[in-house]
Amino acid sequence: MIIVLKPRTSQEQIKKMENQIIRRGLTPHTVIGEEMTIIGCIGDTTKIDSKLFEVNECVEKIMHVQEPYKLANRAFHPEDSVIDVSGVKVGGDHLALIAGPCSVESEEQVIGIAKAIKAAGANMLRGGAFKPRTSPYAFQGMGLDGLKILCAAREETGLPIVTELMSLEYLEAFDENVDLIQIGARNMQNFDLLKHLGQTKRPILLKRGLNATYEEWIMAAEYIMAAGNENVILCERGVRTFESYTRNTLDLQAIPVIKSLTHLPIVVDPSHAGGKWWLVEPMAKAAVAAGADGLMVEVHNDPENALCDGAQSLKPEKYDMLLNSISKIAPVVGKSL
Ligand code: PEP
Ligand code: MN
Repeated sequence: MIIVLKPRTSQEQIKKMENQIIRRGLTPHTVIGEEMTIIGCIGDTTKIDSKLFEVNECVEKIMHVQEPYKLANRAFHPEDSVIDVSGVKVGGDHLALIAGPCSVESEEQVIGIAKAIKAAGANMLRGGAFKPRTSPYAFQGMGLDGLKILCAAREETGLPIVTELMSLEYLEAFDENVDLIQIGARNMQNFDLLKHLGQTKRPILLKRGLNATYEEWIMAAEYIMAAGNENVILCERGVRTFESYTRNTLDLQAIPVIKSLTHLPIVVDPSHAGGKWWLVEPMAKAAVAAGADGLMVEVHNDPENALCDGAQSLKPEKYDMLLNSISKIAPVVGKSL
């Protein structure tokens, strides 16, 4: 962090600033020029709120040279992190292929879809048991009964299960039963929930908030990591923009940006991004071509009658075709299926 002082700041004020910096655990390096004075602050500034220094009248501006996140930062961890989800690797040259219905609706539905996506080449099963719905009158998910169905599908197919945790109340049940715990877009900044995820060693799939900046998203990951769980996978799922034709706008730039700022894997969810089934294939291909570490796609056997997100769900045959194309793109960008 660099603090630029206003012209004609007195020696006494400079000394006062330096002491304040030392009290915060940093070492000041002061350069007094003819026009201005700057103080370089050496040390770990991640825990310092720079606003504290701004209250001094002699401060012109503060410049940050270090990001506020440390554990997720690529600068301190140059290699890609590879996260193990019950034997399925995510990150590096591995591609996570997560698919399944938006919501768990019945055992027959989930097991049928699980078998179909496995045959197509998926390596993880998704399905919402607890659903974050905009309307309180919409289907809210089957809850713990839905979780039991996902476990049965895992038993039947061997696919690790991915499902969303909305409340701390179920953390223990998720810790015991879920292979990859999803934190949805709407809970990305539920800091209390994030902090408690340190109590589990289960990997976390952290979706990007509806209008979260990269830094806010990475700071949410940092919360989980600082709490003691470094197994975090990020998921880009589209952000809200002025465009209303699509449900959200898929931010493909997030892939190279997240990879340059952090060492964490990033998967892309083209289903919630576009909100239309026919946008899933082109966006999924683009995501893998841009270096994504995986895809999370909604697949439903009967989208017309789905209880949630039918319009953006692929039928199993279409998912099979999608993975055929992905298997051709993946080796070009150094990913193995
Ligand atoms: C989901 O994956 O089912 C979901 C609700 O996604 P998001 O949190 O990204 O809206
Ligand atoms: Mn959905």
